[in-house]
Amino acid sequence: MYDVERVRADFPILSREVNGVPLVYLDNAATSQKPAPVIAALVDYYERHNANVHRGAHALAVEATTAYEEARAKVAAFINAPSPENVIFVRNTTEAINLVAGAWAAERLRPGDRIVSTEIEHHSNLVPWQHAARTSGAELRLLAMADDYTLDLSDLDALLSANARLVALTHSSNVLGTITPVKAITDAARRAGARVLVDGAQSVPHLPVDVQDIGCDFLAFSGHKMLGPMGVGALYVSPDAMEEMGPFLRGGEMVLEVTYADASWAPPPMKFEAGTPNVADAIALGAAVDYLGALGMANVREHEIALTAYALERFRELEEAETYGPADLSIRGGVVSFSLGGVHPHDISQALDSCGVAIRAGHHCAMPLVRSRLNVPATARASFYLYNTEAEVDALVSALKRTLEYFGDADVRKPR
Ligand code: PLP
Repeated sequence: MYDVERVRADFPILSREVNGVPLVYLDNAATSQKPAPVIAALVDYYERHNANVHRGAHALAVEATTAYEEARAKVAAFINAPSPENVIFVRNTTEAINLVAGAWAAERLRPGDRIVSTEIEHHSNLVPWQHAARTSGAELRLLAMADDYTLDLSDLDALLSANARLVALTHSSNVLGTITPVKAITDAARRAGARVLVDGAQSVPHLPVDVQDIGCDFLAFSGHKMLGPMGVGALYVSPDAMEEMGPFLRGGEMVLEVTYADASWAPPPMKFEAGTPNVADAIALGAAVDYLGALGMANVREHEIALTAYALERFRELEEAETYGPADLSIRGGVVSFSLGGVHPHDISQALDSCGVAIRAGHHCAMPLVRSRLNVPATARASFYLYNTEAEVDALVSALKRTLEYFGDADVRKPR
């Protein structure tokens, strides 16, 4: 039985107050809070083991290197990568995707090739492909969003038919919560000879993700959204795709031999980790993965489905609210984006903050989706995680009711 109160007790920040009331943290799609074991791993590293990795023979260097590589093995096991060598530590999802754009796409794409992405991407999985298309002469085409906020797959085979080399899609939308059928899309891409990059920023923290089951070539995700520290993330690369990648950054630690005239590369993953890596944060990400593993990702997912169902039920009391996301909760993460009549999302967010409720307002780094497909300048967004409770959803809805009272009827119109 999932005991959310026991989970909450592990997160020191959840017991603080904001504006004189208990914090209700519902901005988890932006970043997650950190449990005590993750914070302790950071402190332990700096108090006892700090040294540079992969270069010293002294005790601290060996300890730091061992812990860093153990963290890589934990992250690899968490996503069922065939080997730790298939996991490259990066700063975040954005850097992971840029690594693929710089190290794979820049080497492989030719004029006339095609990159397929979707209309529901975060800027991090759109802007690098716009650039890759521009610099290589490839064409960027997008799978459309259907009216029910899922991907419209009717065009998929046609989009894949002409020289598609890469499909880059999100596993779970940070705006809509939509969980995409990555396995079916990967199967279709494989048949067409295209590689597949999955943006796992909003899936790896929230549901079981198995890269071998999906069959993708790349999976990008951020540590900070899955209880780990900011400044570390990971890129999974399949063994086949790894063979096709040149270096991303060049310098220390990614080389095998260097002369004054030339250099050769270390085997992966070192080939892609030039310079001193973010050792402490990687080790703490390992602690986060331990924590998530102990809870069980299926349990986390179940908890979030129940909470989202409860939230959507309670939102029905708000006549002025419009929510954006699939009705089918089996394909929806714990994200509820919404409008509230004519009240600007930034005003909603500020009003909620005065009640201790933290949500996000804006375009959520998905400007084309919000502006051109949802046809609003911005939305408010509540996003849940493994420590959120029904009582917190109640606090959200009460605060929204107070917001509506405050802004009054004059400002509140149901959006057309
Ligand atoms: N992709 C998605 C779906 C996201 O939600 C985010 C962050 O919100 C990112 C990519 C970028 O993550 P980061 O800022 O950690 O690089």
